Amino acid sequence: MRKGAAIIGAGVSGLTCCVVFAEHTWDVTIFADETGEQTTSGVAAALWFPYDAEPVDKIIPWSLITYERLRELTRDSRSGVSMLQLRQFTRASEIAIPNWAKKNLGAHSISVIPSENASPARTEGSLTIPGFPSTFTAGFALTVPRMDATIYLDYLAKRFRTAGGTIQSAHISKVDEIPRDFDVIINCAGIGARELVHDSDLEAHRGRVAIVPKIDLAQAIICNDAPLMYAIRARTTAFSEAPIRSAKIASPHPPTPPRSFPNAAASSGSSRRR
Ligand SMILES: Cc1cc2nc3c(=O)[nH]c(=O)nc-3n(C[C@H](O)[C@H](O)[C@H](O)COP(=O)(O)OP(=O)(O)OC[C@H]3O[C@@H](n4cnc5c(N)ncnc54)[C@H](O)[C@@H]3O)c2cc1C
Repeated sequence: MRKGAAIIGAGVSGLTCCVVFAEHTWDVTIFADETGEQTTSGVAAALWFPYDAEPVDKIIPWSLITYERLRELTRDSRSGVSMLQLRQFTRASEIAIPNWAKKNLGAHSISVIPSENASPARTEGSLTIPGFPSTFTAGFALTVPRMDATIYLDYLAKRFRTAGGTIQSAHISKVDEIPRDFDVIINCAGIGARELVHDSDLEAHRGRVAIVPKIDLAQAIICNDAPLMYAIRARTTAFSEAPIRSAKIASPHPPTPPRSFPNAAASSGSSRRR
């Protein structure tokens, strides 16, 4: 007899989980308040990079498996996954290249040339963005998977439905509300787990997305110093993002988009407080 799984949440975690279960012949139902672009996953940048996650001895091997899976998905043009060079910089000092990035993914240092001294002959392997002040002192580069979030979520949802899965629109107030005939219940509620399973250690990390006129940016540029910020070219539009950790991180409500960016959206990621 086929086993049944109930998954709470249809962000990237819920959809990934349900695709894996459904493609391994489980009967899977997702229960989710929101789907697609309404989820936090729908506004993510969404670059692969193990960031601020622990325990490192588990996270790095898991992340490298994810890297390979996503790299395989770049062969499917419907997935919205592509490879992008990520250039990570610091303003203040030298930057340490993580061992796993050097050893497994060929990450290498890149020099930073002040834009006023940059000429086309000198700019290879270094940062030159016209009009950007040259505030960085050191950096490194590696190539990573990047998902066009809305395409990727849609792709996962289609794969899930093709494997026979069902998505039910439902707000679950208590895990007990899930019918008892499922063999497992998997909580993929993101920041919603704060209320759902009273996990008060879970807190939101605020991010703010600013959609700006297109700039000529072939790589993802990340500034590693606080406040973390990055600029990434979207598939159809250019945008820059400045995820920030707000003092109001425990608030479950997304902040109002700033007036200065009429197209801006704001939302939250989540993590455990340490
Ligand atoms: C601006 C920004 C940029 C980011 N960039 C990156 C990046 O480049 N790389 C990266 O790895 N991460 C990035 N993140 C973080 C990443 O987006 C999140 O970690 C990830 O999307 C979390 O996915 P999730 O599936 O766990 O949760 P979510 O996407 O939040 O999905 C939660 C799901 O659970 C449902 N749910 C919650 N509570 C209930 C309930 N009680 N009943 C029913 N359904 C419920 C929701 O409706 C939703 O469907 C970024 C985040 C932000 C905000």
